[in-house]
Amino acid sequence: MRHLTAKDCLCRNVKRVLEEDRPKGHIDRFVYAVFADDIKHGNFCGLATPCDTSLHPNWIFADLGEHRPLESVSPDDPLNKVLSRFQKTHRHALPVVSSDGYFIGAVTQESLLRGLLRKEHVLLQESRRLYQLAETDRKELVIWANRLSRLHEASRSLLNVLAHTALEDELLQMGIDSLAKLIDAKYGAIGILNAEGGLAQFIYTGISEDVAKRIGHPPEGKGILGVVIHDNINIRLEDMRKHPNSVGFPPGHPPMRSLLAVPISHASHVYGRIYLCDKTDGKPFSEADELLSMSFAHSLSLVLDNAREIEEIRSARQSLDYLAHFDTLTGLPNRELATDRIHQSLAQAHRHGGKIALLFIDLDNFKNVNDAYGHNVGDALLKAVAGRLSDCVRDGDTTARLSGDEFLVMLPDIEDEQDAAFVAQKVLDVLTKSFILDGKEIFVGASIGISIFPTDAQDFHELLRTADTAMYYAKNRGRNNYQFFTSRMTTAARRYTELEQHLRRAIEKNEFEILYQPQIESVGGDIVGVEALLRWNSEVLGKISPVEFIPVAEETGLIVPIGNWVLETACRQGKIWENKGLGDLKIAVNVSSRQFRDKNFINDLDRVLKITGLPPRMLELEITESLMMQDLELVMATFMNIHDRGIHLSVDDFGTGYSSLGYLKRFPINQLKIDKSFVQDIPQDENDMAIVQAIISMAKSLHMRVIAEGVETEEQLKLLQKFQCDEIQGFIFSKPVTPDSITEMMVANHKLCIEALHEQ
Ligand code: C2E
Ligand code: MG
Ligand code: MG
Repeated sequence: MRHLTAKDCLCRNVKRVLEEDRPKGHIDRFVYAVFADDIKHGNFCGLATPCDTSLHPNWIFADLGEHRPLESVSPDDPLNKVLSRFQKTHRHALPVVSSDGYFIGAVTQESLLRGLLRKEHVLLQESRRLYQLAETDRKELVIWANRLSRLHEASRSLLNVLAHTALEDELLQMGIDSLAKLIDAKYGAIGILNAEGGLAQFIYTGISEDVAKRIGHPPEGKGILGVVIHDNINIRLEDMRKHPNSVGFPPGHPPMRSLLAVPISHASHVYGRIYLCDKTDGKPFSEADELLSMSFAHSLSLVLDNAREIEEIRSARQSLDYLAHFDTLTGLPNRELATDRIHQSLAQAHRHGGKIALLFIDLDNFKNVNDAYGHNVGDALLKAVAGRLSDCVRDGDTTARLSGDEFLVMLPDIEDEQDAAFVAQKVLDVLTKSFILDGKEIFVGASIGISIFPTDAQDFHELLRTADTAMYYAKNRGRNNYQFFTSRMTTAARRYTELEQHLRRAIEKNEFEILYQPQIESVGGDIVGVEALLRWNSEVLGKISPVEFIPVAEETGLIVPIGNWVLETACRQGKIWENKGLGDLKIAVNVSSRQFRDKNFINDLDRVLKITGLPPRMLELEITESLMMQDLELVMATFMNIHDRGIHLSVDDFGTGYSSLGYLKRFPINQLKIDKSFVQDIPQDENDMAIVQAIISMAKSLHMRVIAEGVETEEQLKLLQKFQCDEIQGFIFSKPVTPDSITEMMVANHKLCIEALHEQ
């Protein structure tokens, strides 16, 4: 505040007078300002106070003025300067004169005092006003302090929320509580949506659980809250009953007047929304409330976005991890993970002792299924197999898929080999049961090789190799069985590779030959047909039995070209016999499943018949029962193609497979060939006797011919004749022989000598 100066304390009782004037009578109250000429503009001469005039009652003012020097103060002189002037001059009054000599007024001690009092009064008033101001400020400060502390609390909650990577319910609860308190909302809620648009979290404040249950549903987009989510916009309404969109609140929703709703969104992705209803003071929500809520929602969206990103990264990592360690088709551990687990188990077994069994499982017939039904069914089969395998093992065991149709089962802690055998048998049992896939009944078996640590192998590679070898051994042993590894098998495995290598070049090196074994009519004893049987005389390996090389040819697919070669050669030979006028000799050719399912099979048949000129009725194809177990549609179609061409079909090795009467009835089969294993043991084995008899009568009832193979003894022959078996084939008449030998037999009208038998 400005300090008091002379001009602030001017005396009010100043009278302007001329020099010569002197008032008569009592002049106590006034201070006279004396001027030389004009009292308004004239030269100021001095001041005369009542004291001066009473001391010199007969003087005129001019005298008073002349007798003392003119003492004055300037208008802007501060109060202390004026006072010290009073003390120095001992005057009762001092003129206030401007710097250019004009009289402005006078100050007296009394006027000074009055000035001071006035000032004091003003100051007092001012200070009172300030006090009031301060008081209001204080009150406001208190309110603000409260708000600040709440803000602080809320922001702490929010920070807390932000510091988390996921929004748990408690955090949201803290958040909505603080927010509602901060903006004085009566109640409100946070709704977080899940990926499907449903309400994943509904956290409320200011309402009862009951009500919350009623209203905690995701807004459907019709009402105001839905709009917030669907349009990603804020809504602030003073009186929402007037709003046209005031629908969509579930029944039982607490009544409300004003509403504030903001979306929780980030980068245009809406995670949910916050809404607050009615302020406690009845006022509508302010812009500040809206800003605050938006900022809170923004914070939440960051957390949610963060959480989402973390989740994305986590799940990406998980799936990467999964891809690296699991087989995506079956969900089983893959080779990597299996390797890892086997290593671990081996390390443990090395340290603490113990036995580990590794089962190497290879499906039989998988390639056929894949070729016949396509990859989708193949894949479904692998999945189903994986499921069944997993059911066979215990928790600590590992089932893995190595590749294609190869699976591993590792039993990390077995007592003895029997445990492994038990699991292997279980696996065989479950895999032999049919699979129904895509409405089709599919049969697969498996060949299992078992290797044991520490007996058969010391490390992982050896364990895998020996189990693999044992598996191949199981395949060669006719499939659908398990084999424990033996050192002998290493030789067998080497043999397999050797066979495969040489088999590849056998056709071009002309190492194959076909021998023919006659098929004789039981009644009459005439040669009615021949079975073409392949012989391999390898330049390097010597004579190899078809029992050994045919499975290798099937496994490697080499059976297709080899089979074609047999078909063509046999048909050519049949034509030669026909040309020789030897009559309708039936040429029976073995066709393996792989060859039969080859997509070019029928074309190949046509081609061969065409180039050889053999009448189709002279050709008979021998197929095995197991071939009919899969992909009935394809089998049936191929059968019909064969049948339509007049070619005959014979089921080889009958009785060893699983064919049912139902199957046989449906197929255009001309002949059943009783497997030699049944023939061999008659008449000693009663079971076999019964089976042979049953097969014959069944064939009859189905109007099929029936032939018995592997007939070696007269006893067998007699029985077969008795059972009315149509034809026989076996050493009793002839071993498989060269075509020339067959020609000779035919020309010599070689007959089975049965008359004697008839007589008996
Ligand atoms: P398979 O079709 O059942 O042929 C009958 C087998 O029984 C032949 O063995 C034959 O020599 C033998 N056998 C004939 N009579 C007797 C007998 O009285 N006693 C005994 N113990 N055996 C007899 P092989 O020639 O060793 O052929 C074995 C298997 O190899 C055949 O069984 C057949 O499945 C397969 N095979 C032979 N040639 C071919 C071929 O060209 N293609 C295909 N896919 N498989 C063939
Ligand atoms: Mg045969
Ligand atoms: Mg046979």
